[in-house]
Amino acid sequence: MSSLPVLVLNSGSSSIKFSVYESAHGDRSKLFEGAVDGIGTDLGKFWIKDAAGKKLVDQTPALPTRAVAFALVASALHSSDFPAPQAIGHRMVSGGPTVQENQRITPELIDEMESYTAFAPLHTPIAIYIMREALRLFPGIPNFVCLDTYFHRTMPEVAKHMPIPDEYTEMGVRRYGAHGVSYESIVYQLEPKVPEKLIVAHLGNGASISAIRNGQCLDTSMGLTPTGGIISGTRTGDIDPGVLLFILRKIAETTESATAAADQLEIVASKKAGLLGVSGLSNDMRDLREAIKTGNAKARLAVDKFTWTIAKWIGSFVAELGGLDMLVFTGGIGENDIASRAEICAGLGALGIVLDPARNNTRGEAVISAENSPVTVRVIPPAEDLMIVNHVIRLMGK
Ligand code: AMP
Repeated sequence: MSSLPVLVLNSGSSSIKFSVYESAHGDRSKLFEGAVDGIGTDLGKFWIKDAAGKKLVDQTPALPTRAVAFALVASALHSSDFPAPQAIGHRMVSGGPTVQENQRITPELIDEMESYTAFAPLHTPIAIYIMREALRLFPGIPNFVCLDTYFHRTMPEVAKHMPIPDEYTEMGVRRYGAHGVSYESIVYQLEPKVPEKLIVAHLGNGASISAIRNGQCLDTSMGLTPTGGIISGTRTGDIDPGVLLFILRKIAETTESATAAADQLEIVASKKAGLLGVSGLSNDMRDLREAIKTGNAKARLAVDKFTWTIAKWIGSFVAELGGLDMLVFTGGIGENDIASRAEICAGLGALGIVLDPARNNTRGEAVISAENSPVTVRVIPPAEDLMIVNHVIRLMGK
């Protein structure tokens, strides 16, 4: 089989990340990756680097809109400097209750997924926009959607079901989970020796944790939307519904319509809460660690709230799994924040989780548990784009 360049598009709220992989004879290798960052700010960046890290494009363009940003990416990828993609894989957080399988994208499928924007309100609009633009700007190239919810489809009903009246359940309100492509990629990297009882903590700006049995998702912390579960950069995580009602009523006192009040509540719960809300300073762990060094008590509380919540979830997942063989940390904080890993694991000795401080004093892939720790603790960076390429190749029947 000849080489098959696959473009992966993975968008965030103010960035579009992409990579191109070559797939030949069952081998996948990354040819290059890039991003347009800072959309809608004065700090627009556009870069592409090859697999060896050499910068091929390094610009600071004005990026007033996502249309301008994606046009830059498409035009670079159409130039003769890069191989023409023969398939495109799109990362998508949630396609709602009716789109749960990774599949080829059609205009009708995009409309269907768009109707469930409320299930991932921060992520869906830009992903939908990019899918429509990719169909238009790369005519004739097959596009495929890879859903984060796909990995979580194996959860039992007791984990998926929300304790709400049936009429809302029938509208598709249930636990879907997120970060599924990351979890899948950790399991993929552990193959063929995937431990029976595994917990993976994906700790990035968005944070979640999953209990995985024999490679299949048993439970996960995020719920209907990525706002649920663990406290993260700007999101509440799980919270007493009474708190949301209290805030909603406060907002409603000065808001004209119920929809406007709900929109404001969404901003509070998903953009102003979490580490940012508690610290009043930043959603970025590096900033918080710096502030803690200067004695900032609110930064300390925010980070304590984060690590304490994660330790509690680990405890409940050990109970659910009936024990634990391996704990994996991944995501920007999971891979890099040595102190967070130490603080999360500090009280978990009774569960057999014992870190080796010297081994933990590292960034990137490593085994960080003590020699005699009953549970192996590892750091493994996710390989999300590779996972998407694998799905695309499978769906193309290649
Ligand atoms: P992600 O969303 O996976 O890119 O992760 C972003 C989070 O990782 C932010 O909170 C960053 O502060 C955190 N992070 C990245 N690098 C480091 C580092 N060297 N030390 C501590 N936290 C880091």
